[in-house]
Amino acid sequence: MQKIQNFINGEYLDPIKGQYIDNVEPGTGKVFAQIPNSTEEDLENAVEAAKVAFPVWSNMSVDKRSKILHKLADLIEENLDDLALMESRDNGKPLWLAKAVDIPRASTNFRFYASAIINFSSEAQVSEGFMVNYTRLAPIGVVGCISPWNLPLYLFSWKIAPALAMGNCVIAKPSELTPMTAFLLGKLTKEAGMPDGVLNILHGEGKGIGQAIVEHEATNAISFTGGTATGKIVGVTASQQFKKVSLELGGKNPNIIFADCDLEEAVKTSMKSSFTNQGEICLCGSRILIEESIYDEFKERFLGECSKLVVGDPMDPKSNLGALVSEAHLNKVDSYVQLAKEEGGVVLYGGERVHKEGFYYQPTVIEGLDENCRTNQEEIFGPVVTLSKFKSEDEAINVANSTRYGLSCTIWTSNLKRAHRVSHAVQSGIIWVNCWLVRDLRTPFGGMKDSGIGREGGNAALKFFSEPQNVCIKL
Ligand code: NAD
Repeated sequence: MQKIQNFINGEYLDPIKGQYIDNVEPGTGKVFAQIPNSTEEDLENAVEAAKVAFPVWSNMSVDKRSKILHKLADLIEENLDDLALMESRDNGKPLWLAKAVDIPRASTNFRFYASAIINFSSEAQVSEGFMVNYTRLAPIGVVGCISPWNLPLYLFSWKIAPALAMGNCVIAKPSELTPMTAFLLGKLTKEAGMPDGVLNILHGEGKGIGQAIVEHEATNAISFTGGTATGKIVGVTASQQFKKVSLELGGKNPNIIFADCDLEEAVKTSMKSSFTNQGEICLCGSRILIEESIYDEFKERFLGECSKLVVGDPMDPKSNLGALVSEAHLNKVDSYVQLAKEEGGVVLYGGERVHKEGFYYQPTVIEGLDENCRTNQEEIFGPVVTLSKFKSEDEAINVANSTRYGLSCTIWTSNLKRAHRVSHAVQSGIIWVNCWLVRDLRTPFGGMKDSGIGREGGNAALKFFSEPQNVCIKL
């Protein structure tokens, strides 16, 4: 069985205290690797390495840093098959999805920030004959990046790429449920020519090493993606030490279908926004709100498409959905389906665990629930969607805004004015009109309300990982 190691100061190292946790393969339900359960001693080593590397990395020319990050992107592409296989085994997602989305997007993240840093510049304000002000955007130093399990390398790289591009040194922790691709990344950074200590990767439990990274006085900024409850702890801890903090948290996203939409396209894309990656994408639309006049037709077509979905072995190209990430998560998803029934919901499709081995769950569609019930208010983060009817645009907006979350929203309409009107009225950081999950990395990304603070993506991320310093010169 494979035993992975931390990556500290350019070396793969065993955890100092010798503690490990089992890593279970969701597709089989069996342990397939052991991962370090790192402690403060490992963190001290990583911090030391990062501090030593900081002057080297931050003083390296932007051009050279950019070349190293481009090379890393090349290496991810060259190793696509190995990385995708590992991602799929680790997470339970179909291999074809890891190959088509997760790994290519990880390489795009490095490539994007390798280019962005070259084009990034600060501003100067010239008061003719009197003074010149310019703003220097300095790297922060050592920063902590903590990521979740649903899109492992993709989200891990999305954090560390801008941090590194800006000249910071990073202490990163992937989810303990999906550490394998982050582990493989270590050696690729070395091959790309990244100096030792610039990127340090520690594995282990959130409450242990994750919390320690947030608490350590040397980490000057924390970029965190994960659940809202964890985000609250991370936010409080980081703010107490006046650290910069970015929190990308949970969602309960509405998918609003107006009667004037292209119904075929709306059904097709709603299938994807409901069940891609087993519904384990923070941006999945879990509440489908349908205008009353097309409710029955939408429902019939949607259920028809559900019946075509195959839930099975992540290695099988015919599987549309693979396994959920863990047994505990599967039980959580199932408990919400049971709750939905208690709350008066009718399960129109799915609602059952499938296959004896592994953590497989059917795509599940529920109707008949009030918008304020727990099923419609709390994040399930699995292949479960609810359908409900609305009579007017105002009602759709009110229901869309009725949760404490505000991550993303999808709107289906052919009325241009309505598209703008509803987009502006919905409290979500990301709005998709007649599409879903289409991403331009130049745009800022993030949620409103309990879905987070700060923004990732584009120059917003480069700014987050820098400290603006104003220099004023009298003429
Ligand atoms: P989680 O909050 O349980 O864990 C996220 C990461 O935080 C893991 O690496 C974990 O080990 C670590 N962690 C746990 N406790 C910690 C602590 N006290 N201090 C520091 N780190 C700690 O989330 P998860 O179950 O891994 O991921 C699912 C959640 O992530 C969902 O709520 C989903 O919506 C959210 N998510 C959000 C986005 C986004 O961009 N907004 C993207 C993906 C996932």
